[in-house]
Amino acid sequence: QCSLWCPTGAITEKNNITDVVKALEDQNKYVIVQTAPATKVALGEEFGMEPGSIVEGKQVAALRALGFDAVLDTCFSADLTIMEEAAEVLYRLKNVQNTLPQFTSCCPGWVKFCEYYYPDLLEHMSSCKSPQQMLGAVAKTYYATKMGINPANIVSVAIMPCTAKKAEAKRSEMNASGKEIGNEHMMDVDLVLTTRELARLIKLKQIDMTNLDNQEYDSILGESTGAGKIFGVTGGVTEAAVRTLYYYATKENPPASLLNWQEVRGLKGVKEATVDVPGFGTVKVAVCHGLKNARVILKQVREKKSPWQFIEFMACPGGCIGGGGQPKSAVPPTDDVRTARIASLYKMDAQQSKKRLSYQNDEINTLYKEFFQEPLSEKAEHLLHTHYQDKSNLFTAKKDL
Ligand code: SF4
Repeated sequence: QCSLWCPTGAITEKNNITDVVKALEDQNKYVIVQTAPATKVALGEEFGMEPGSIVEGKQVAALRALGFDAVLDTCFSADLTIMEEAAEVLYRLKNVQNTLPQFTSCCPGWVKFCEYYYPDLLEHMSSCKSPQQMLGAVAKTYYATKMGINPANIVSVAIMPCTAKKAEAKRSEMNASGKEIGNEHMMDVDLVLTTRELARLIKLKQIDMTNLDNQEYDSILGESTGAGKIFGVTGGVTEAAVRTLYYYATKENPPASLLNWQEVRGLKGVKEATVDVPGFGTVKVAVCHGLKNARVILKQVREKKSPWQFIEFMACPGGCIGGGGQPKSAVPPTDDVRTARIASLYKMDAQQSKKRLSYQNDEINTLYKEFFQEPLSEKAEHLLHTHYQDKSNLFTAKKDL
């Protein structure tokens, strides 16, 4: 059953290295790449570095050496996801209490699981696309226009910790940018490489990863805050979202406790926390990782016994840092490896990021000013939000669960 939503990724990994090489060799294509947060603290392990080594800058340099025309950051679009997701939960808190709790939607493994087994709860799912898909949609619209590139000539590649992301990019509705130019076959994200596949490509091209100097992401979809970086760890989406939710509700920066929110951190299967949001009282959140834990939570939601307003679900133990496309430094992955990667993402947030709040991201603010106007605008709904399907009939063993 795992292969359907791939928490371990062992089963259906499709190798896309050849496709990426072909795109890079095509002089008529403008090949962009985005890198997910969890890859930045794991890729180094494929080159003999310690688990959790931060190789963000080296990864950028390696991708440039491979010939990508622009190296963009999924952490940028994680900030964008937060802008939309926090606006959505605020909207639900104000207007549609009956669709609370709001479920996070950035893990395609979890989304598919919900579509198969809990379709009756899909109205709880945030309509936000994942950061991968948001970046894809923005790259072939706003970015293409700004850079003067025909979107049809862009090949959009994503480096992900996860094999489920390959399937997500292929979902038929993930063609919002194509629809904008009347080409429904043009997908927002064309190719996904796992962290391991990227490592193989780097080795294939004999790039000396360990000795590369750090490089910066390209502008204009390359700036990120610490909030975007912690997306890669269980609890990170919640922590990032609540920071911005607090700001939306109060127009003030969140208190220091929300920048180091211990209750939502760590590897406990289900974590619960509360936050006082002025004007909305106490907001209760839950965070769970691993689909076994998700079942426990979903049972309570189904029985209308859930005390929470916001619930984060990640299919992989530890969140994306433990994804099926990550280096196999230990088989099966150990909590030591997971903990090392997690510590590095929190370090990148707390110690290495100039900004830690998504709404302070200048490139995000420019994007809204020039293109989307505001979160949940009509254009944002079209490009950044999606819908889900009841797929329970596709899985005949459902009754057995
Ligand atoms: Fe992929 Fe992350 Fe979900 Fe795992 S938790 S299936 S790595 S998106």
